[in-house]
Amino acid sequence: MGKVYIVGAGPGDLELLTLKGKRCVEEADCIVYDRLVNPQILSLAQSECELIYLGKGNTEGGVIQDEINRTIVEKAKEGKIVTRLKGGDPFVFGRGGEEILALNEACIEFEVVPGITSSISVPSYSGIPVTHRNVARSFHVFTGHTSKEGTWHNFDAIAKLEGTLVFLMGIKNLGLITSDLIKYGKSATTPVAIIEKGSTSKQRVVEGTLETITKKAKEQKVVPPAIIIIGEVVNLRSEFNWFEKMPLFGKNIVITRDYKKSVKFAHEIEKLGGQAIVSPLIDIESLNKKVDLDDVKAILFNSQNGVKTFFDSLEDLRVLGNKKIGVVGIKTYEEIIKYKIKPDFMPEKYLGEKLAEASIDFTESGDKILFITSNISPVNTDLWSEKFDRNFVSTRIFKTKKVINKNIEDEIKESNMITFLSSSAVDAYIESLDGKKHNEDIKVASIGTITSNRVREHGIDVDVQAKISTAEGLLESIVEYYKR
Ligand code: SAH
Repeated sequence: MGKVYIVGAGPGDLELLTLKGKRCVEEADCIVYDRLVNPQILSLAQSECELIYLGKGNTEGGVIQDEINRTIVEKAKEGKIVTRLKGGDPFVFGRGGEEILALNEACIEFEVVPGITSSISVPSYSGIPVTHRNVARSFHVFTGHTSKEGTWHNFDAIAKLEGTLVFLMGIKNLGLITSDLIKYGKSATTPVAIIEKGSTSKQRVVEGTLETITKKAKEQKVVPPAIIIIGEVVNLRSEFNWFEKMPLFGKNIVITRDYKKSVKFAHEIEKLGGQAIVSPLIDIESLNKKVDLDDVKAILFNSQNGVKTFFDSLEDLRVLGNKKIGVVGIKTYEEIIKYKIKPDFMPEKYLGEKLAEASIDFTESGDKILFITSNISPVNTDLWSEKFDRNFVSTRIFKTKKVINKNIEDEIKESNMITFLSSSAVDAYIESLDGKKHNEDIKVASIGTITSNRVREHGIDVDVQAKISTAEGLLESIVEYYKR
């Protein structure tokens, strides 16, 4: 027999998943999830993990609920670790209880991992505290749905509550909720906010009063998932709003670099309030080469991947003992010092030729100098050998492969910007488009001149070019662009 974890995934922002929830995702053989779960969470699962989407949201889904119950029981009986992922918290209108009843009937072990419920966190992300000293001393959470039997809340009692009122799943019945509250005595001028897709880059807030909000919500076409929050605390938003003020809030940014580096870059984008769409168009592959270091007097590195692959291939670090080492590029430098190697030289300009030139001071006429490169590095050993009176040789230690993704157009259609950190990523993008035109609503950001030129060669405008040619530098320039 396996086991089932019933896990709350939080309101949307990936980082609002708990550590325990993350572990359950990582350990799962099978994940059953619904519409409100951020797909990025699923990418934390093992590659063999079976992903089952079940749910039209967490609304009244009788049929779907039976199917969910059946599925988790079945999979656990196969001996699997099943993680049932739910938006927010499993027990806040999440029907976690019904699943437990089914598991108990089948004698299946389970654990419940609470999640951050949208009822408090979505207001937080819009700058509305559910309680506040001297403003609200309680908060009350309701479903805005009528139950199957058609019973409706006792609004006579609800209208008399002094605390903040929060309604989940209430968009359809918004008119009914507000008019009943007024009917039973709540002031028509009580502030109301509706928060759509809270804690995500698509968060949208509509503000009004009990009297005006229904019309406003209709005009602005508010759609679920959305939360209705009613009470004086809504007024604090003008002062407490923080999320929507983040530099990249509301921006969906596509990352095309290789998967490993994309993950880090995505994290940086999210820290600035943006949403990253990871769509790698490049893959780095080690060529598993044993590098011949005989007679080599100096070794030159022009990329982080080169350093990494080279050191992975070394069996004994001491072979480097009497060799001079030069690097170019800050990332290359940062990588090599991880191996406790302090480069002897590093030119300021990020150019292979400058690196070759810098090696002269550390070698003698005719010395053999080895460049560690990739299949796409512009390294002209013949020219430099002649120019600098040395014997430059190069070895390709890793390969940069283009990844052709025929779904790219669809994957990025809702994005605001696409980023390119190499000209091969640009080529892979064009090939992926397969003759279709680049969508001009999507801005283009490039890491430097060479990459920008490649973009323009394809008739596409470059909107942002990094002032400093690193991922961090690019991000800085993107932030500046949006500030303007
Ligand atoms: N168990 C969930 C609630 C499930 S009911 C929880 O604890 O949050 C589904 C309702 O939750 C939606 O109709 C909506 O009212 C609310 N909701 C969930 N996520 C939301 C989000 N990111 N933004 C706004 N409302 C959200």
